[in-house]
Amino acid sequence: MPEVYNWQLGRNMDYAFEEAHPEKQFVAVFNINRCIGCQTCTGACKATWTFSKGQEYMWWNNVETKPYGSYPQHWDIKILQKLDEAHEAANVKSSWDTSQLSEHAPYGVYNGMTITEAAGLNEQALGYLPEDKEWRAPNFYEDTSTAFQGDNLGLSTEGASLPEHQTWFFYLQRICNHCSYPACAAACPRKAIYKRPEDGIVLIDQARCRGYRKCVEQCPYKKSMYRSTTRTSEKCVACYPRVEGKDPLFEGVPMETRCMTVCPGKIRLNGLVDIAPDGAWMEDRYNPIYYLVMVEKIALPLYPQFGTGPHVYYIPPRWAPRPYLRQMFGPGVDEAIARYTAPSRELLAVQQLFRTTQRMIFRYEIEEGPLVLETEINGQPWQMYDDVVIGYDAKGQVASRLSVIEPLHERPPERLNSI
Ligand code: SF4
Ligand code: SF4
Ligand code: SF4
Repeated sequence: MPEVYNWQLGRNMDYAFEEAHPEKQFVAVFNINRCIGCQTCTGACKATWTFSKGQEYMWWNNVETKPYGSYPQHWDIKILQKLDEAHEAANVKSSWDTSQLSEHAPYGVYNGMTITEAAGLNEQALGYLPEDKEWRAPNFYEDTSTAFQGDNLGLSTEGASLPEHQTWFFYLQRICNHCSYPACAAACPRKAIYKRPEDGIVLIDQARCRGYRKCVEQCPYKKSMYRSTTRTSEKCVACYPRVEGKDPLFEGVPMETRCMTVCPGKIRLNGLVDIAPDGAWMEDRYNPIYYLVMVEKIALPLYPQFGTGPHVYYIPPRWAPRPYLRQMFGPGVDEAIARYTAPSRELLAVQQLFRTTQRMIFRYEIEEGPLVLETEINGQPWQMYDDVVIGYDAKGQVASRLSVIEPLHERPPERLNSI
């Protein structure tokens, strides 16, 4: 099997195909801390792409409540368990070496096996095919928290405080990760799945697909889904006409996807980053996505240990137990939460860009404003400035302009009920 470099793991790994990379990569950053679990994103994707016969149980975007919720049911517990068993069988310990941080290994080096390396005979990657019933209840365990250990009713009368709540849950927003090394593509015997060179979006060629479901079996995130009416598999298409700038609304500039643009919680930011021939992200300091993932490192990939190189990056929730978060987002969790808790002046401004325009933002600028608050966070002095952040679209036009202190508009008394 060819060897490819996976920067999220800080090392080479086995993959079905020779190393190849797109010119740009479709990326999203999701801030878990802000999600209100409203499922508007889920509904927007369904109303756009999966409203037809045979797609009833197909949710390309879903929001599940962790730790118990998952769609399909128990998808991550099942694949993590298989990976654990493979490590035990091979007598290999899965761990991260964070002493070797570098530009090419921002999270250190992963010393365990990926799903490709742990694959059994006759499979490209470790996987399983969910049963039909596991797809039926996409939001099982919604808003279900863990139980409080000190009380037999499972309730705490003490309330909750950071850094870790004693009973907790959080929402995990999920779409296809448009991976660098997609397990779905590696698994397909028909070579029907491809990664587009222009934007890294992973698509299934419906004319080639014969519905063997190998992609459903081997995508560790379970984001490829089978449609019985067409006997083919389908998956999130990253709303590619919008990414291509084909929406007449915005003069041909790339737009964020449907699930991103509808989000009332303002948790989502979507864009494109430039990729070097060796797969590294080319430095683009003032692209907000590059800044959040590569400079601040507050947004982390989901289960990087699977080894597919996923490109949805999450700002981890501040209140959940750190060991749980580390197994989910890798070893960068503690630093990410520390930086998010006491954000730098620049980070505070850049966070205003989430969900302010439908256009993808390719560059930002900050106009410095006055000091408005001096306080302490975790015993350290911290200042807030009312800076203005300006986001520019692909054509260099101003797409959004926001201050850190958002203006407050009060309705005049005679119009209080004039909605
Ligand atoms: S998340 Fe799954 S379906 Fe999407 S590109 Fe990665 S392996 Fe393929
Ligand atoms: S990017 Fe588009 S196709 Fe993919 S989950 Fe979001 S709305 Fe659906
Ligand atoms: S629309 Fe936004 S806030 Fe609502 S569930 Fe989806 S990601 Fe969360």
